[in-house]
Amino acid sequence: MMPALEKLLVLQDRDTRIARLKAEVARLPGERAAIEARVQAESAKLESARVRLQHLEAERKKLELDAEAKRNQVAKYRTQLFQIKSNTEYQALLKEIEQLECLIQDVEDQELEFMEQVEQLQPQLRVEQQQLAELTARANNEKNELQKRDELIRQELAQLQAERTVLAQQVDPDVLARYERLLRSKGNAVVVPVQHGNCGGCHLHLAPQLVYNARHNNELTSCDYCGRILYWQPE
Ligand SMILES: [Zn+2]
Repeated sequence: MMPALEKLLVLQDRDTRIARLKAEVARLPGERAAIEARVQAESAKLESARVRLQHLEAERKKLELDAEAKRNQVAKYRTQLFQIKSNTEYQALLKEIEQLECLIQDVEDQELEFMEQVEQLQPQLRVEQQQLAELTARANNEKNELQKRDELIRQELAQLQAERTVLAQQVDPDVLARYERLLRSKGNAVVVPVQHGNCGGCHLHLAPQLVYNARHNNELTSCDYCGRILYWQPE
């Protein structure tokens, strides 16, 4: 293989690796955001359970105060009973007390229901707190790993880029310009093998003369269709 082609292939190998690493580094912020979104979602779930618990406790407290006020009222009526002289008034007040006691029973029943709901929710909340703590720890580890990967990739990239600069200086400027023009328009594979008489880039069938040139010539051969630089690879 002619030296110019060999150099181009090495250069292309570095460029391919550089492109791959750049793509990998570009994916890292997305991975990081996904980890953070998972923690965020779990934390929102916990928060909504906590708000629900607070609400239940506030409702229960309201009922407790209501029952207490009613019980005080009953106590007041009971002392009034002793001061009443008329039987009709006495009976009326007794009826009032009975009604209030019924209401107190209702309020206490409701209070019990709220207490049961609170009791059910509390262990669930503890489980969710535990889950969030575990998830957060895991997420922090994952983010540290990402950070390490990011640093490693950047180091490798810097090394490859330095290598690439040296390699590019060893390529004939015209050839380098042609290669880089192709790279910009086609992407990564611009120096391609002849495969069963076809271009390894666009896969179209090459004229026999081109195949012959790629195999024997001392000049760089390009595909007629896509312009990629061809090299011969024993099949
Ligand atoms: Zn082609």
